Amino acid sequence: MTTLADPVPGGRPGEVDRATALSDELSGQGVHGVVLSYVDTAGVGRVKTIPTARLASAAAWGVGMSPVFDTFLADDSIVRTDVLGSPDGDLRLYPDLDQLVVLAGQPGWAWAPVDRITQEGETHPGCGRTVLRRIVTEAAERHGLSFKAAVEVEWAVGQGSSGGDFVPATTGPAYSATRQVELSDYTADLLAAFAAQGVEVEQLHPEYAAGQFEISVGALDPVGAADRSVLVRQTIRAVAGRHGLAVSFAPAVFAEGVGNGGHLHLSAWREGVNLHSGGEGRYGMTAEAESFAAGILARLPALTAVTAPSPASYLRLKPSQWAGVFTAWGRETREAAVRIVTGTTGLRDQAANLEVKPVDLAANPYLALACVIAAGLDGLTSATPLPEEITGDPAHLGAAEAAARGVRRLPTRLREAVEEFRGDERLRAALGPVLADAVIAVREGEIAAVDGQDDERVAAAYRWKY
Ligand code: GLU
Ligand code: MG
Repeated sequence: MTTLADPVPGGRPGEVDRATALSDELSGQGVHGVVLSYVDTAGVGRVKTIPTARLASAAAWGVGMSPVFDTFLADDSIVRTDVLGSPDGDLRLYPDLDQLVVLAGQPGWAWAPVDRITQEGETHPGCGRTVLRRIVTEAAERHGLSFKAAVEVEWAVGQGSSGGDFVPATTGPAYSATRQVELSDYTADLLAAFAAQGVEVEQLHPEYAAGQFEISVGALDPVGAADRSVLVRQTIRAVAGRHGLAVSFAPAVFAEGVGNGGHLHLSAWREGVNLHSGGEGRYGMTAEAESFAAGILARLPALTAVTAPSPASYLRLKPSQWAGVFTAWGRETREAAVRIVTGTTGLRDQAANLEVKPVDLAANPYLALACVIAAGLDGLTSATPLPEEITGDPAHLGAAEAAARGVRRLPTRLREAVEEFRGDERLRAALGPVLADAVIAVREGEIAAVDGQDDERVAAAYRWKY
């Protein structure tokens, strides 16, 4: 479990001693530096690094970094809100030692996610990791609920270095043995790196699009799952670089065709019991699990501003490409935005979960999980009824039938998603006003940054950013 406590100036009890011992141990293993990692509002991973010997100081007093990154765009230009985007001020980055990992793909380095607090020791309202932790903590306190989550990571492997055009590093068909053989050394090194880092890999396979692969990892608590998705991408990129390969996690590597998803898997639990299994509802869902799914479905149009945050996200979010662009649910339905996964007989009480598909890897995983959980909880607490199941591809429903069944097409442009988000008080409240305003300002900045550009240029603009 991830530590459920905010950092405090001077260090949480025992933390500095622990960091001192850890830094000695790391130095003894040849680790020279620690990458301190978080994800900005635009979905770009930002870092500071420190020499290993500074770890105890970082655990006590944090490491400085400006809050201006909360309103950075993917092209590194800066927008402003009432609170954020100013050149003034500083924050302290506190590494979470529970999640510190020695990076197998980057010899000499360790990695840790950070929480960000102010110089006065207060919570920084722009810290997505802190917001997710608060939502998880409140769900435990108010509803006795905990969650398991995982982010599936899809990426395209290209030849050479990143930047410019994408040339796939494989020629084999989707899911093919050919493709697996072509990148055999790279993927074996990836598995070795994950094993060395203690990341439980469930599957790694060639995917649909040119050069595309996918990895699924074991479920963790939501903060741990978000951390892990960042670490997984850092590792995939680092190991690729050592093989002379470039990777793109962008929602759309090209304007046309299947993109890279970052599907979220999520289950709610109470006292060790999975609410998605063994109940009286459809496919064994409890009434609470049905309402949890219904809450997510109801808010999906607004959620896409957080889960699909890039102009390039809407090149991916097209019907019949398994990205789930309709507000519909179904058991193992790959075109429904919410896919109910029951697991196989014998494993259901452990495996049952729901998958949210209109999520990509431009999304800040902390914000995406925070908003999806908040939407689910809203459904659960108001006992929102889950509509009828959809089977097959909702794209084939006629307009009248879709309307009758409450099946809506998700936003087709980032602008529509932002308007939905702006109108959704519950989601804005989940993030808090500072972060909600940052989401809106950053999305509007991204829209303006590619205004008037054709789809291929939009894909190219974000191809190597995430
Ligand atoms: N690549 C698809 C997407 O964009 C997902 C394929 C799958 O179901 O794994 O979400
Ligand atoms: Mg996939």
